[in-house]
Amino acid sequence: MAYDKNNIFAKILRGEIPCNKVYEDEWALAFHDINPQAPTHVLVIPKGPYVSMADFTAEAPADLIAGFMRAVGKTAEMLGLVDGGYRTLANAGDNAHQEVPHLHIHIFGGKALGPMLIKDWSGKL
Ligand code: 5GP
Repeated sequence: MAYDKNNIFAKILRGEIPCNKVYEDEWALAFHDINPQAPTHVLVIPKGPYVSMADFTAEAPADLIAGFMRAVGKTAEMLGLVDGGYRTLANAGDNAHQEVPHLHIHIFGGKALGPMLIKDWSGKL
């Protein structure tokens, strides 16, 4: 999928739309999700035009990949989630219901998060 520079997170990165910022450095921006699904729900996005994890890891320079991943860990620590535990998740494409076509890692925490996936399938491959 080609990168759409008018997606909502690109607009947040350009400062055209406000966000409730948690952390920012030269590689990444972290901000609270507008529709939180846990007591703490923060999104971390890389500062570059990447749709998904596959796109990012194939195309981004190594310093940006390292900086972005460090920002995810630093954000979880700043949010006070490390001791109690937390979950990171990155949706990609239709099967995962990715809504915004700019790579983002969700950080969920602040409560026991339950099973990793809803068990709504037969369990048979
Ligand atoms: P996805 O389904 O693409 O993995 O998740 C997109 C996330 O972005 C959703 O959790 C949604 O609530 C969040 N989101 C969508 N628009 C905005 C926005 O304008 N601001 C913020 N802070 N979050 C947004």
